[in-house]
Amino acid sequence: MSFSVETLRKQFPKTCESFSQLPDGGTAALLHLYHLDQRYQRARELPSIDPHLTAHPIGAFDVVLAGGGLSLIYAAFLAMRGVRVAVFDRRGIGCGHREWNISMRELLPLSQSGLFTEAEVAQLILLQYRTGICRFGLGTNYAVSGVLDCVVDAETLLERLRARCVQHGVTLLPYRELLDYTLDQEGVTVRLQATDGKRRVEQLRTKLLLDGLGATSPHARFDLCCPTVGGVMDDLAIGSDPLEMDPEVGEILVTTEGVEQRRQHIWEGFPTVSALGDARSTRRMTIYLFYYLRSDELGEHGPLPLLSLYERYFETLPRYKRGSLRLVRPTYGYIPAYTRLRPMPASPCDRVFLVGDAAGRHSPLTFCGFGSMIRSFLPIGEGLLTLLGDNRLDEQSLAELWTEPPALKVLGGLTLMMSPPLSSDGADEPDTINDLLNAAFSTLYAMGEEPYRRFLQDDVDGPTFVRFMLGSAKQHPEVYRKVLRHLSLSEVTTWLYRLWQLYRTPSSEQGLR
Ligand SMILES: Cc1cc2nc3c(=O)[nH]c(=O)nc-3n(C[C@H](O)[C@H](O)[C@H](O)COP(=O)(O)OP(=O)(O)OC[C@H]3O[C@@H](n4cnc5c(N)ncnc54)[C@H](O)[C@@H]3O)c2cc1C
Repeated sequence: MSFSVETLRKQFPKTCESFSQLPDGGTAALLHLYHLDQRYQRARELPSIDPHLTAHPIGAFDVVLAGGGLSLIYAAFLAMRGVRVAVFDRRGIGCGHREWNISMRELLPLSQSGLFTEAEVAQLILLQYRTGICRFGLGTNYAVSGVLDCVVDAETLLERLRARCVQHGVTLLPYRELLDYTLDQEGVTVRLQATDGKRRVEQLRTKLLLDGLGATSPHARFDLCCPTVGGVMDDLAIGSDPLEMDPEVGEILVTTEGVEQRRQHIWEGFPTVSALGDARSTRRMTIYLFYYLRSDELGEHGPLPLLSLYERYFETLPRYKRGSLRLVRPTYGYIPAYTRLRPMPASPCDRVFLVGDAAGRHSPLTFCGFGSMIRSFLPIGEGLLTLLGDNRLDEQSLAELWTEPPALKVLGGLTLMMSPPLSSDGADEPDTINDLLNAAFSTLYAMGEEPYRRFLQDDVDGPTFVRFMLGSAKQHPEVYRKVLRHLSLSEVTTWLYRLWQLYRTPSSEQGLR
């Protein structure tokens, strides 16, 4: 199927109508969505090269970062520490932001790294709400504070990272896409192709290639996927009814329906600042709708999963929130992730290291790639500096640069509980996932705010996790049978082994990353 807004209008009428309120009539976003859906299905291939084009050398660097999204933080950090860095992106550098939420303490590495002062970090927070809630089906609100409660000014963060790059001499190469790269004993030759319509091929030499190409990287291999659509919505009804927006409350995970067509749709809604920049009088929320699934099942969800999800978003939004609900800015994407029940994607070869979404390092429960990147860039960046200094850029040394905390390895398996069951036995019971989530979250809530918060921030110790498991099973004795519907026998075995490892790890080594 080729792209035409007219064709899409017939297939996705509510989406096209809502997008038509955007300044350009929504055409650019619809086109981008359409290509993202197409690319994601084929995915992860590099463009083919015209053999007649000669590559123009641009220069030699210590590090080349492919993809100038949030991974730009690596370029800024390494350059600040004296490394010669170049960054290229098929779009502008530091332009592809989403609406990012995080907690205050997770932002600490931004100042600890020396990239920003504490005052600059504080300026990045547009709004902080009082409480977060999770609610499933007709269940109650499970309140928690300090989780995803800070709305980050993503545009300013990326702008400042770009400014730091310029200040520290990073070579910025916008509108170039990766053609290919070749390895030799001394380094990597990276070839790029212009995306601004000019038929131009360029060539860079580097000691190390950082792959920050996101979910569509040719190396991204993830076993879970979370198609996510939504954006900033204006003119919500204000109040304390679940159908209204409370400007003091963030909705971390909320379901309004049960499983349909093997999908459990989940809402997320965070108050954000109004057009006037005023947090208190805001009627604006960033609202997402998403579902989790095993990535090999994505093909079963039609040829255009994100566009189909958007159509559902606009159809069912009035069941989540009331108001005239005007779309101000769409945000969407495929969020990749790992169950951690299989080996994580590591360095694909010597001298190439994956960062950000390409490495699939998301929070298992909240799928926060931004949070996860901010937590991990500092130890990884320091490790890269050591390896560059020692000229130890072999696959093994790069792979050892990052070890996942044991808590993440256990929590990863829980994401499968929110994705469709493997076994068809009982899979069509609409409340199967809501029941599990209610059992899990009522147990967490009863355990107290501190363990509940730490759990949502991937920072749980073995004894607490076991207490959580036993508590959920007591409340909902069916839980073990349901777990077996969602996990294969080998996944259960691996998961139990991970739990044993977590149990044996001293709590001082389980810290949040
Ligand atoms: C809708 C949505 C909401 C989110 N909300 C949150 C949140 O609230 N909190 C949170 O913690 N996380 C959130 N995330 C996750 C977070 O945004 C990502 O984890 C983060 O942006 C990943 O950054 P990245 O640099 O790895 O990848 P990306 O931001 O995807 O950047 C990849 C870059 O590579 C470029 N590129 C791709 N292929 C090529 C190529 N072949 N050649 C050249 N350039 C290329 C792209 O143009 C892009 O600029 C959200 C994600 C989505 C989709």
